[in-house]
This record gives sequence, structure tokens and C-alpha cells, in this order.
Amino acid sequence: MKDAAELILRSRRVVTPEGERPADVAVADGVITAVRPYDSAVPDGARLTDLGADVLLPGLVDTHVHINDPGRTEWEGFATATAAAAAGGITTLVDMPLNSIPPTTTTAHLTVKQDTARGRVHTDVGFWGGAVPGNLKDLQPLHDAGVFGFKCFLLPSGVDEFPQLSPDGLADALTELTRFDGLLIVHAEDPGLIDGAPRRGGPRYADFLASRPRAAEDTAIAGLIALAERLGARVHVLHLSSSGALPLIAAAKRSGVRVTVETCPHFLTLTAEEVPDGATEFKCCPPIREAANQDLLWQALADGTIDCVVSDHSPSTVDLKNRDTGDFATAWGGISSLQLGLPAVWTEARRRGHTVADVARWMSTGPARLAGLTAKGAVAEGHDADFAVLAPEETFTVDPAHLHHRNPITAYAGKTLHGVVRSTWLRGEPVARDGRVTGEPAGRLIERPAGGS
Ligand SMILES: [Zn+2]
Repeated sequence: MKDAAELILRSRRVVTPEGERPADVAVADGVITAVRPYDSAVPDGARLTDLGADVLLPGLVDTHVHINDPGRTEWEGFATATAAAAAGGITTLVDMPLNSIPPTTTTAHLTVKQDTARGRVHTDVGFWGGAVPGNLKDLQPLHDAGVFGFKCFLLPSGVDEFPQLSPDGLADALTELTRFDGLLIVHAEDPGLIDGAPRRGGPRYADFLASRPRAAEDTAIAGLIALAERLGARVHVLHLSSSGALPLIAAAKRSGVRVTVETCPHFLTLTAEEVPDGATEFKCCPPIREAANQDLLWQALADGTIDCVVSDHSPSTVDLKNRDTGDFATAWGGISSLQLGLPAVWTEARRRGHTVADVARWMSTGPARLAGLTAKGAVAEGHDADFAVLAPEETFTVDPAHLHHRNPITAYAGKTLHGVVRSTWLRGEPVARDGRVTGEPAGRLIERPAGGS
């Protein structure tokens, strides 16, 4: 039997749904049982952990992670990715359906993924399914098996076993999903505009940026919104980089179209102007854009046009990043940031006058809502006792050697960031302290909650 004795986590700064305040958070059997006034009497037999002035946040929920296991475990694996996540304050992540072999496009493939992950994860882990040509009949069974929704591409994904949908294929998938109100999550770049963009290749970042124009995102998102509106379907725009799509998204939301949007730490904290030529650790698609574009993404976060911030942690081996030639065109696209998302976003949020509570809303509450995880994403009675404890004013300099993801490459190397994750708690138990995982993997494999999205 699990110890039923109460745990009290006390902090002068607890981020609750109503805002930040001093509080005592009571936990029993892995669930938050009460949020009491600060310095309340500690019940007989309860254990008190006083966090002082460190901030108690809801554990982060990262709904965009590529773990690549099995099949490309030399890129990343469940044990390493979830260790990095736990060290970075993440308590729940949802794995993307591609870059592993097999991709998560059938229930049999989902079972392979789950069997690979079981017993090896330091955070809770759920799975997205994939919508690819020819698997329409697999969508409902995957939904029934508990995937959180379905990812698709509108242009080549980067791996052959996960092809993109044609425009007709996209409409067919969305039509099928509306039968059970499934969610389609979309890599939205228009293939025609990407094909028509200048493609010089080589190590100049400006050339790479020109090959992935904002218009490609804006056009794809416009088409997706129009389709969602026509079909009454639920769609989610992955990794929004282009500020050009924001007015359209805001208008669609106002008129009731069921569209949500995420962006990523790298779009909020890194700029095209600062990417050195040949620095392929900064390559991702869509790309990191100019500072003026970034300012508009921050505005959209503040006004709610963008719903959440998730990592899009998409690593590869060092050699696939073309570190020798610095060629952006053929380097693997993906930024490794699982362990750094919270301090990276907090550093920039702080500079721009946002609060830790804002960051919790973007990186925990928002993604939990996207995934329909009603027991995650808030320090509130009845929620899972999943927490990140942050020393917000402490700084550190990023040393890739201290990161737990498999290949020690990151665009944040050498940066000094605000916000040290002191500890991470999953269902009332510490799973990481001071950047290291503690004990055996305690994460669970989770499914979309019944009645959830
Ligand atoms: Zn991705």
C-alpha cells in the first residue's frame, strides 16, 4: 500500500489558477487534497517540506516531444528524454508519432511504442497518433486506444515512413475525425510555396531562412482554418513561427472556429539575427525568424491568440546536424530543449515583464487543456500532485554536458539563463532534484481521459 500520510509543500510563492500566493499544498495518495493558507497547522503525521521562497508551479506538460524510440534510439530514447524532461520541470509529455520506427499510425504500432516505454519513463507519457496516406481506417481504433489526437504533415516530414497528406487526404482525415470529434494537429507549411522558395543550401542562415518563408506558414494555416470551419473540425497548429498568421488565427477564434495554436521556446527566445552561419543546432522547420517577428509572438501569447508553449524537442545524432560542413539545407531540422524550456522561456518572459504565473499558464495549463488532461496543469484540489519547484532569480550557464537528452547538442549552449529547477514532483514524489533524476522511473503511460478531447 502506498503511504497515505499527508505531505505538505509550503511556499511563499505557489502558482494557483487564481494567481500566485503564499500557501500550503496538501497531498495524499499522489493527489492535491487541499490548498491551505500559508503556515497552516501541520496535521498529525503529515510531512512538511518548506520550499521557502522557491516557486511551486504545476508540473509542466509538454505535448510536443519526439522520442524516436524504438527504431532511431541513437537519436533519442524514452529513458534519456524523460530524464531530461524531469530535470527540466516537466511531469507529463506526449510523444509525437514520427521519427520512431514504427511510426504511431496503427494500434499495433502504438502497442510497440507503449511496450518500449513501459517501466523506463521518469515522467508520465502519452502518445499522439499519426494521420498518413492510407490509414483512415486506423484513426478511430487509435482514438479508442487512447491517443490524444493525430498529427499530419502537408509537406515531406523528413522521414520516409511518415508521408504527408495531400489536400484531399487532409480533408478526408478531418472528415473522419469529426465522426468522433478527434483532434488533428498539423505541421502547417504550404508545399508549393516551399518548393517555389529560393534554395541555395550551404551554411548561411539567411539563405536557409529564405527557403522557409513566412508565407508558407500563413497560407497553410489559412487553408487549415477554412477547412476546419467548413467541417466543424478541431485543429491545432503546431510550432507556429510566423507572426503573419496571427491576425487570421485571432479572427478565426473570435468567430468560433475550433483552432488552437502552440509556439516553442526557440521562437520566443532566439532570433535569426543572432544565429551564426553554419550553426545547424539552430535549424528547425519552420525556422527561427527575426526579432520583430518574435515580438509579435509574445504579444499573441499575452493576448491569448497563442494557447501554449511546448518544446518540439526533436533531436538527432551529431553527424546528422552536419556540424562539419554547416550546411543548413541537409542538416536534420530540430532543436533539443526538453531540459531548458522552462528557464529559457522564463528568462525572456521576465525581461518582457511577464510573471511566473504567465509561464505556468503557457507551459502547463495550456498544454494540459490541449490534451484534455483535466487532472494536470494546475495546483488545485483534485489535481495530480505534479510540481516544478523553481528558483526564478538564480542563474546558470548552459553546459550541454549537463543535459540528459541523448545527443548533447543544443542551441542554448553557453547561454546564461534565469530560473533553476530545484526539484520536480510526480504524484507527490520527487522525481528530480538539482538537475538529476532521483530513483527508479516512476512515470506512467497515460491515455486520453474518457470524455476528454
Ligand atoms: Zn515536431
